[in-house]
Amino acid sequence: MTRVIFLGPPGAGKGTQAKIIADDWSIPHISTGDILRQALKDQTPLGIKAQGYMDKGELVPDQLVQEMVEERLSQPDTKLGWILDGFPRTVNQAVFLAELLHKLNHQGEKVVNLEVPDEIVIGRLLERGRKDDTEEVIRRRLQVYRSETAPLIDFYRDRHQLLTVNGNQSQEEVFGELKKVISS
Ligand code: ADP
Repeated sequence: MTRVIFLGPPGAGKGTQAKIIADDWSIPHISTGDILRQALKDQTPLGIKAQGYMDKGELVPDQLVQEMVEERLSQPDTKLGWILDGFPRTVNQAVFLAELLHKLNHQGEKVVNLEVPDEIVIGRLLERGRKDDTEEVIRRRLQVYRSETAPLIDFYRDRHQLLTVNGNQSQEEVFGELKKVISS
């Protein structure tokens, strides 16, 4: 049973690694960013509500994202495991998730922080060129990361759940390290 929560700044490589791990372990990759971008594309009520926040690099309100994650984690394909990428992003969301996992009887989740220095992250995001990857929006996303999301590192460290992997290596090396900490 593999249950993984991925932490790390935007551009740390969470999405890339999460996809590889999900394929390798045959478990769903649950990316809140991907779900929100799809909702936006389809112009669903959720997408329409989320759009303004995403365009500015702000967080979508906790309640919207939490409902979305609860719905997704309640699907039958999560029974054999999952990898969460982009959630939680606030301490509020982390508290919600701990309660949700308890309620769903999903235990033993591993929390992995993918560490990458700031200057590397900015370079990677500028190269990526996604629609919401303009320099201004990237700066805002990093600010939001520092103030809202980085505190999760201490949150999980205090709960003795934090595992750390150096994300500033080749994709293969990062994957190798991840595999080790996740299966240990
Ligand atoms: P990145 O790859 O830059 O880390 P994501 O693809 O994970 O970005 O998310 C893109 C955008 O979607 C975020 O900037 C934010 O507006 C929104 N978003 C994704 N996950 C969450 C979340 N857990 N809480 C609030 N907003 C979120």
